[in-house]
Amino acid sequence: MSDVNSILVKARQGDMLTAGELVTLLSITDQTELQSLYDCAYFLKEQYVGRIAYFRGIIECSNLCIKDCYYCGIRRSNQDVERFQMEEDEIFKEAIWAYEAEYGSCVIQSGERQDEGYIAMIERVVGRISKYTNGELGITLSLGEQTEETYRRWKNAGALRYLLRIETTNAALYARIHPADHSLEVRKECLAALRRCGYQVGTGVMMGLPGQTKLDLANDILFLKEIDIDMVGMGPYIPHSDTPMGKDAPPYTDKQKKEALTLGLKMIAVTRIVLKDINIAAATALQALEYTGREQGLRCGANVIMPNVTETDYRPKYQLYDNKPCLDENSSMCRGCLSNRITGIGETIGFKERGDSPRFKRRTAE
Ligand code: SAH
Ligand code: SF4
Repeated sequence: MSDVNSILVKARQGDMLTAGELVTLLSITDQTELQSLYDCAYFLKEQYVGRIAYFRGIIECSNLCIKDCYYCGIRRSNQDVERFQMEEDEIFKEAIWAYEAEYGSCVIQSGERQDEGYIAMIERVVGRISKYTNGELGITLSLGEQTEETYRRWKNAGALRYLLRIETTNAALYARIHPADHSLEVRKECLAALRRCGYQVGTGVMMGLPGQTKLDLANDILFLKEIDIDMVGMGPYIPHSDTPMGKDAPPYTDKQKKEALTLGLKMIAVTRIVLKDINIAAATALQALEYTGREQGLRCGANVIMPNVTETDYRPKYQLYDNKPCLDENSSMCRGCLSNRITGIGETIGFKERGDSPRFKRRTAE
């Protein structure tokens, strides 16, 4: 039996894999072995979370940001972005659109702001959405690093889940892609604070960062396991031309796109194999690499998709990376076209279901 096959046999039995074994899986290039990896992840997905895709309507409510991450298109220093901030009522309206479209959850995401006016506005709108939907619409926040007190206020207002990517667990790489005052340790502390506040906690990394190795990615997955994460949202790094990391990088060639997509899919598959009963999102960035990237993510172990429910006019102003898909579509178009593509691959869509993380439910019931 090849190395890969014997590792996959262990994985199907539910045995823990070593960092070296994860590196072997992430390094697969042979098409047959790749398919065996994806099949193994799909087998475990079916067993632990079922063949159901949950929709989380994402509202990108502001591109104002106090941070300056070297990879991100809406970083503070990018002067070429027209900044916007949605009104509270607009955020509310879009969340209710998602509710009425029978999405089980919404995600409110923005650049990072830590001023009291913003914190209080989010608190109010979360409270309104939660009340209007009787807590039926799961509210996820993705609003960056905050104090534990802020996280607690938003949780008490009705937010259920929080997404904060660790980006990379390699400290030297983290330091290369962020300014000196952005700290990996603070991020870890934020994840711990979110757990203490009772959120379903999600994190993840970018794959394909310059200088990132397969061992880095294997260690990232082991970190997710170590902190017993409930949800994972990770995606390929895609250069943005107005950023320090992207300015000299030519756009990805077709070959590079394909490689980045395959790495993204392998990471999803290996994460499913290692973490089993968690929710894993097929990131929108996968679709920037190939039109069916997100569906392929579902076939490789993801079970969550985040259709954009942001007003079409705002979308071009929220470009974290170049070639972001669906910029000129409206929310109903996104619903229709995604639904068809997902049922087309034999999955059911969990309409009207919140789709909470099974891992979280198990841990809190213990
Ligand atoms: N400000 C919040 C939420 C918005 S950014 C935060 O940083 O958590 C959401 C995610 O977009 C980031 O975590 C990062 O992983 C991703 N992102 C930013 N720039 C990107 C790029 N060029 N390619 C791929 N993903 C990117
Ligand atoms: Fe701001 Fe998030 Fe972009 Fe960093 S990744 S610059 S925190 S929006």
